[in-house]
Amino acid sequence: MSAVLVKQIKKKAEDEGFILAGITTPDEPPHIATYEDWLDAGRHASMDYLAREDARARRADPHLILPEVQSILVLAFPYEPTLTPSSSPEGRGEPKGKIASYALTDDYHIFLKEKLQAIVSFIESKVGHEIPNRWYTDTGPILERDLAQRAGIGWIGKNTCLINPNVGSYFFLAEILLGIELPADQPFVSDHCGTCTRCIDACPTQAILPNRTLDSNLCISYLTIENKGEISEELRPQIGDLIFGCDICQQVCPWNGKVLQRSNVQTVERSIDPEQNLISELSLTPQEFNKKFKNNPVKRAKRRGYLRNVAVALGNVGNESAIPALEKALDDIEPLIRDHARWALNKIKGND
Ligand code: SF4
Repeated sequence: MSAVLVKQIKKKAEDEGFILAGITTPDEPPHIATYEDWLDAGRHASMDYLAREDARARRADPHLILPEVQSILVLAFPYEPTLTPSSSPEGRGEPKGKIASYALTDDYHIFLKEKLQAIVSFIESKVGHEIPNRWYTDTGPILERDLAQRAGIGWIGKNTCLINPNVGSYFFLAEILLGIELPADQPFVSDHCGTCTRCIDACPTQAILPNRTLDSNLCISYLTIENKGEISEELRPQIGDLIFGCDICQQVCPWNGKVLQRSNVQTVERSIDPEQNLISELSLTPQEFNKKFKNNPVKRAKRRGYLRNVAVALGNVGNESAIPALEKALDDIEPLIRDHARWALNKIKGND
């Protein structure tokens, strides 16, 4: 029954649009010690919620999340990549800024929720009773890439992404903790990074550490999304024209060339453009920002964080046509925006 059920569950996951599915046990994740060291070294920057004692304990033992858990179903849902790394942002014409691929659709927390719920209902219908369950889509204290590797769906690359040899790394991970025992898949034990160091070499801020972890204090994704304060002046020039997140370590990864082969894979339609006009973005009022990014991941940065990033990108692009918009931003209600706009103006005018 179990093997048949697993096959049915994976088929259901495929029908819901997931491109990878694997099952693992709720045992301690294999790299928990590396993760603890990462926290102790302060690599999580200002994300204090990651270092809370209860979160640490749950990451080490999924039973603390769901006491009845016997199996964990790990799933991957694709998103459409932008395949070419950022070119030099400087130049003439309308200044543009880039948003990371994952954030171009409606928020995955919203649309994956329904799909995960549908899979749970399907499993319950097959076994004929309710099952204790809990699911996460980057929403809870769980070492998802570790579990995904142990569930056999890929390896953790030097860029810290979970990579599958057939589909690359452009996907969201989701996990369903289940109170039923299912046969676990074989872990993905091979490492296909080999001697490649493209991601390490390409990272503009050198955020990728040798032990397959990132220093969030340097990571552009962190700096432009989770970071609620200022971006240090030393790092601003390295951010280029990236205004929300960063895809560079995925774009340069040779395994993502494979995504070209999966053009038949259905994913969620984009709802915003990957390139945004920086001058009009800097003029967004709170109401306009809320309307534009209502269901989009960009809302996570809030207007003050997003416009901070936009100001930095304008400074880096260096286009004089941005001067009036930046001067107007010197009167913004948010000090964070005013400060970064001032920096950008100085940079464009050559006063930095
Ligand atoms: Fe591994 Fe190279 Fe991809 Fe980095 S770019 S994750 S080293 S294969």
